[in-house]
Amino acid sequence: MRAVYLFKRDLRARDNRGLAYASKRHKEIVPFFIFDKDIIRDLKVDRKRLGYLYKVLALLSSQIKVYCMQGSTEEVLKEVFKTAKPTHLYTTTSYSWSGRERNKVIKSICQAYGVEYVEVFENFLVRPESIPQKKVYTPFYTEWIKRVDLTEEDPQDFKVPDLPLPTLKDLNIDFDSLEPFHPEDCFERLRSFPFERYEELRNYPAIDGSSRLSPCIRFGVLSLRSIFKIAQGRSEQFIKELAWREFWYHIAYNFPQTKDLEFHEKRRNIRWENRQEYLQAFLEAKTGYPIVDAGIRQLKEEKWLHNRMRMIVGSFLTKVLLIDWRIGEEFFKEYLLDYDEVVNIGNWQWTASVGADPKPFRLFNPILQAQRYDPQCEYIKRYIPELSDIPCEKLHDPIRYALPYHKPIVNYYQRISIAKELYRALS
Ligand SMILES: Cc1cc2nc3c(=O)[nH]c(=O)nc-3n(C[C@H](O)[C@H](O)[C@H](O)COP(=O)(O)OP(=O)(O)OC[C@H]3O[C@@H](n4cnc5c(N)ncnc54)[C@H](O)[C@@H]3O)c2cc1C
Repeated sequence: MRAVYLFKRDLRARDNRGLAYASKRHKEIVPFFIFDKDIIRDLKVDRKRLGYLYKVLALLSSQIKVYCMQGSTEEVLKEVFKTAKPTHLYTTTSYSWSGRERNKVIKSICQAYGVEYVEVFENFLVRPESIPQKKVYTPFYTEWIKRVDLTEEDPQDFKVPDLPLPTLKDLNIDFDSLEPFHPEDCFERLRSFPFERYEELRNYPAIDGSSRLSPCIRFGVLSLRSIFKIAQGRSEQFIKELAWREFWYHIAYNFPQTKDLEFHEKRRNIRWENRQEYLQAFLEAKTGYPIVDAGIRQLKEEKWLHNRMRMIVGSFLTKVLLIDWRIGEEFFKEYLLDYDEVVNIGNWQWTASVGADPKPFRLFNPILQAQRYDPQCEYIKRYIPELSDIPCEKLHDPIRYALPYHKPIVNYYQRISIAKELYRALS
């Protein structure tokens, strides 16, 4: 009996439950990956995420033979079934909206071809559905931490048959390469990251104080179990961040409508201004608020953004410029290397105070945030070097001090009072 194994967001050969499960049942397995043409087409501006994915697949291919094909899920599956003639297809369970839809398609194609479809739970420490429905993070965490399952499972030996199917090197795809991200660095980063100092340093965007493991998690280069085990006992705060990721999946599972609709029902009718000139200034990092513009520049240049900056930038777009969070969500989607549909939507809703958050209105005053989290303006000056000679105090507060820079597009204080009124009416 020959099986095929479809890799998705579990791109590693070790400690992979899906592959381990398949290898216990089959001596011959055909591992494969689909460069889905619909997903590739979606990446309009920036193809660097694909460059990273390519490197991840190259790393995986150095450990086991993986067939890689480009096309729609349907086209590729038909080709694989015709060539490999499997009895079973194994893949991981998906909990994202698009992943669930895709798994439905895969399952129906399997049924049409008489191939048994098997989903294996992976990519989470706790099954999102195993926790009784929670709407708030803290009670979710209390339940989540009790259920964390750290059992590692390495695949048993299996044979990969030689088939007339392409591997990565046969694909002639010209992806932009993405420096300085190398998936092989995930292992060293995990080993050497000072988890003990995480809580103290994680909020300062100028410091390399957060793990930067998000792309490693997003593509499954590292298993969550291996990350949890190393952090355990060294940083409870870090473990709590891993739980945040799973909280958003728990929300998406229980409230699937939140893909498009605000979790906070009363806030589904906010009248976003969506003014084009404000949006344009934001997208071009010309808001006149150095801390905000520095964040937008970091995102565009590095395809990654510090969490504190994601909150500052997101809050500015929604509560100061009064632009719909969905537009911000799309913007992040375009650039983030760690882009995750469920986590991004959950966090954008949270930042816009329309999501799963017991606090009715969160404020990220860009002036106070800059003073507190970038006290020496190291971050601002790193991403906006043309402001290097300006005293930091002035860069923090572009309302009080006129800068030789873009004029602030709006007055924060005036705008935030408009936002407060708007939100109060929808509490
Ligand atoms: C508006 C907004 C959009 C975001 N979009 C994404 C996204 O598309 N993909 C994504 O992975 N994260 C997203 N985040 C969460 C968070 O900013 C990133 O996970 C984090 O900055 C990644 O850096 P790190 O690996 O150094 O994180 P660390 O601080 O080292 O945290 C460790 C891990 O915990 C998880 N984590 C941390 N914070 C959060 C959080 N708030 N929500 C969920 N998981 C978290 C991540 O997997 C992260 O890698 C978003 C946050 C905001 C405010």
